[in-house]
Amino acid sequence: MTADKAAADRQHKARTAKHKEAVDKRIAAANVDKGLLLVVTGNGKGKSSSAFGMVARTLGYGQKAAVFQFIKGKAEVGERAYFARDPNMRWERCGEGFTWETQDRDRDIAAARAGWEKAKEALSDPSVHLVVLDELTYLVTYRYLSLEEIMPAIEARPAMQHVVITGRAAHDALIEAADTVSAIRDVKHAFRAGIRAQQGIDL
Ligand code: ATP
Ligand code: MG
Repeated sequence: MTADKAAADRQHKARTAKHKEAVDKRIAAANVDKGLLLVVTGNGKGKSSSAFGMVARTLGYGQKAAVFQFIKGKAEVGERAYFARDPNMRWERCGEGFTWETQDRDRDIAAARAGWEKAKEALSDPSVHLVVLDELTYLVTYRYLSLEEIMPAIEARPAMQHVVITGRAAHDALIEAADTVSAIRDVKHAFRAGIRAQQGIDL
């Protein structure tokens, strides 16, 4: 080994040791357990699939999860077929469709409201470890539901219950209330190259 390499190795070791020490300190300091509110928003692909990944994690520990899909046009996904086999899974498809499909705003509102009533049940049940409110942001954007109705139910949920909200253009009030917020950036999407939705990837 050359003297140069030995010096570089020592420097690398010292640097990584210092980094580890800083990370360990931060890990030790993060000692609070709490039901989290997460928002996954942005125009890029990966919002709902991220939420459903957390459902898999939850079910993996034998805990209960509930998913409320508020937009039916996007509702048929492989995760539902798979997770439905688990007795700890509650999976509700709430939407009647979406405005440009149903062309019927009153029906959309009624479906959204009925879905929200079911979601509120889960949000008051301490045995449910994780609640996913998939595409909830659109209900706010299209004024199917108001934040005055949504926020109190989320804030009053059981202390250890986690909630994930997905959808584009999350309202500021949701972002403010959340503990963790990810905005997925749309860099590229295959759809724009004329590729249709692929099983296992898009649905
Ligand atoms: P996913 O369910 O794949 O995680 P998502 O929840 O982030 O996607 P949605 O807006 O709910 O995105 O749309 C779901 C469907 O639309 C999926 O088929 C996804 O691949 C597709 N999609 C998501 N983002 C884009 C985009 N920027 N351009 C085109 N299609 C998209
Ligand atoms: Mg989605």
